[in-house]
Amino acid sequence: MTTLLKQELLRLAYILLVFAIPGWFFHISLQLVFLGLLVYLGLHLRSLHKLHHWLKANPTEPPPELSGIWEDIADNIFRLQKEELKAKQNLLGIIARARTSVSALEEAVVLIDSQGNLEWWNSAAEKLLGFKSDIDIGKPIINLIRDPSFIRYFEHGPYTEGLRLPSWSQPNRYVQYEVTRFGQNDRLLIAYDITRLHQLEQIRKDFVANVSHELRTPLTVLSGYLETFASNEELPPKWARAFKQMEQQATRMSNLVNDLLMLSRLESDNIKQEHKAINMTHLLEQLRLDAQAYDPEKQHAILVNIDSPLRLLGTENDLRSAFLNLITNAIKYTPACGAITIRWSNDEKYGYFSVQDNGIGIEPQHIPRLTERFYRVDAARSSATGGTGLGLAIVKHVLLQHKGILNINSKPNIGSTFTCVFARESLVD
Ligand code: ADP
Repeated sequence: MTTLLKQELLRLAYILLVFAIPGWFFHISLQLVFLGLLVYLGLHLRSLHKLHHWLKANPTEPPPELSGIWEDIADNIFRLQKEELKAKQNLLGIIARARTSVSALEEAVVLIDSQGNLEWWNSAAEKLLGFKSDIDIGKPIINLIRDPSFIRYFEHGPYTEGLRLPSWSQPNRYVQYEVTRFGQNDRLLIAYDITRLHQLEQIRKDFVANVSHELRTPLTVLSGYLETFASNEELPPKWARAFKQMEQQATRMSNLVNDLLMLSRLESDNIKQEHKAINMTHLLEQLRLDAQAYDPEKQHAILVNIDSPLRLLGTENDLRSAFLNLITNAIKYTPACGAITIRWSNDEKYGYFSVQDNGIGIEPQHIPRLTERFYRVDAARSSATGGTGLGLAIVKHVLLQHKGILNINSKPNIGSTFTCVFARESLVD
């Protein structure tokens, strides 16, 4: 039994005794014991009333004068309340500090609830995205950033990669958006100004495009003369060999320049090529002829499989270059008398253009980097085959323009399959 309970029982016994003794003298002890119980109950009711009044009126003030078990209850309540208040103040302090630090960020930070409505944002968001604290709170974000690409990104993701767009509120500026989910389907949007980065990229692209363009004419002149000299049968053998090599190198350089120009064009923001329905049977037949003419000495068996009657919507010249890059790679990286299969097929969701070879294959660690510019598994072998190191980068960009992706499957010494995967919307009967 706790001390408090013991004390309470003693108090009750004392009151009952005080009333029972005179009762015993006057032979009315039962009535007086009952009176004593009423007094005891009255004392408790008074304490209960005081406690109730205190809790209702001002629970942060120290509790009223109470006795017995009520004093202990009031003290405990008061202590718990003080602890809670302290924890609350700490939490408010942390929230205030978090808000101040988020407000100081240069990146726009926006909290969006599960319905897609704006909940809170920092001052950078006001500047960068043009949100106004008094009128925009609670509004759907897609009513404020109305770019269709943003709406698609926000509603369907995927959020693994961000989205880069011209600024909605300030023309000539570029913004990178990144969305992350948290809590119960709430979303956090971080946006930052990448105008400077965009300008630098633009300068780089323009520079490469201009240099490539400027190199084109001198290279054509050089190649022309070199071809004439190389075919001159009166040249001494030493010079004939030198001219042949110069001619080959000039051809390599012009291939490089052409590939760089094509990449610049594909990368440029404002290319909007018209997509037409391409007859794949016809295209694959042409590709077979090109493949057979590319390196006939190797005597590869080149097979064409057309397993789909569907046509592909796209820019024929670009797709043809991309497909030809995959085919010439298969020829280059497959030893003589190999087998190369070019296939067009589809299932319910996608269309597939693939090139399969039984050549040297690629070690798995290189595969993720193959579409980077100038990435080569074996630089010596690649230059010997006359490659520019830009072929797969071109394939990737052409596919980007067609909302397609490149899948690479390869095993060293067994062979490789490069597959261009197109969405069903790009296929027509
Ligand atoms: P390159 O002009 O050097 O061929 P690409 O971008 O076309 O440049 O290819 C990048 C690298 O990928 C090549 O250097 C080569 O190592 C590797 N590669 C591409 N296709 C094949 C293939 N079919 N078999 C083996 N390796 C390949």
